Amino acid sequence: MRYISRTAGHLAKKFYAWAKENGHECLSFADSNYHLWGQSIDNVSVESLMKALKRYASNENTKIVVAVDAPVKTIRDICRELVGIGFDKSDILIVGIDFIKGNATAPTFMPYTSYNSLEYLEFHITHRCNLNCAGCSHFVPIIPKNIEVNEVSLKNDLSRLKELVNHIGNIRIMGGEPLLCSKLEDYCEFVRGLYPHANIKIVSNGILVDKMSDKLIASMKEHNVSLDITCYPPLYDKYDKIAKNLDKNGISCVMDIRWGMCPILHKDSNHKFRHDNTSLVCECYNLFDGSLYPCPPTAYIDFFNDYFGEHFPSDEGVNIYSCKSFQELWENVISKKKLCDYCNHYFMTKHFERRPFSMSKHPPTKEDYIREYDEK
Ligand code: SF4
Ligand code: SF4
Repeated sequence: MRYISRTAGHLAKKFYAWAKENGHECLSFADSNYHLWGQSIDNVSVESLMKALKRYASNENTKIVVAVDAPVKTIRDICRELVGIGFDKSDILIVGIDFIKGNATAPTFMPYTSYNSLEYLEFHITHRCNLNCAGCSHFVPIIPKNIEVNEVSLKNDLSRLKELVNHIGNIRIMGGEPLLCSKLEDYCEFVRGLYPHANIKIVSNGILVDKMSDKLIASMKEHNVSLDITCYPPLYDKYDKIAKNLDKNGISCVMDIRWGMCPILHKDSNHKFRHDNTSLVCECYNLFDGSLYPCPPTAYIDFFNDYFGEHFPSDEGVNIYSCKSFQELWENVISKKKLCDYCNHYFMTKHFERRPFSMSKHPPTKEDYIREYDEK
């Protein structure tokens, strides 16, 4: 193979060493850092991307190799840039994650046209929660008590997803409150087995952290799973103690203060979503009941419709069993959904205004989830 390396970083050099040993020819290293332009690595020049593009245009059958340790989103951006300036999509090769992470001595190559990685995934392991937040974006307070996650089906869904998605950057095991699920340690092991290089986190409101079993703590350590704790106002004064306990148990954790909740929906579709696809602003891919969704509202809107007798657009997930390839899955999951026109997410990211935190009333009201257009 004759190739140009995108970047002159340490992984590009590592790849170069392998490529040289295996008879591949590197024409140049194309790097964005102009301080490196004019230098050389083992007599191969480091140059600007535009210079590399000219070299590519005058050398037939040349590939451009991307060997970087970066979030999936960044790798997609790098590839999009290459296509944007004139490289042919089919000539872009992404070096596989095993080689990048040092778990393989020989690289695998993934053509950009079939790059099958996701930046993010989350899923419920239980729909139960020990809080009852008004405006919960997963509609947890209104999910009927007799509906619960089926462990076998969820594990089948995750295994099927693995057939389509080779690598996921960040996986969040959540609910509801995942610490209410007695199988949590099994999920840590199962998900790690499927995705060895993912950053895996359990997302919790922290209430039960002091009661985590030794078995769970051992499983989290063994499978390198950490905690993301969302700190809600009713528990603000408990979080210092929670943090100390986690430290004592050697569990790493990130705490995020949630001072307010953002109603998810607008009551009509007058506030239009302004993007062609959801990947630019919404990347909370949710796996639920055999389908992949771009976000929690699209995944769980049926619970809202059923509870309040509403008819917000639903059934917008992509069935992972009928999808034949990652590309089919990806293109469908990021396509704009009908629910997007009713959704406050785009509005929220622009203005970032939340309502003060409150618990749902008994019974919950739909106003908890709906925002008026002029609401501040
Ligand atoms: S703690 Fe999280 S999952 Fe539970 S009701 Fe509140 S927002 Fe929803
Ligand atoms: S705008 Fe669409 S994809 Fe984004 S959160 Fe709302 S419903 Fe989901």
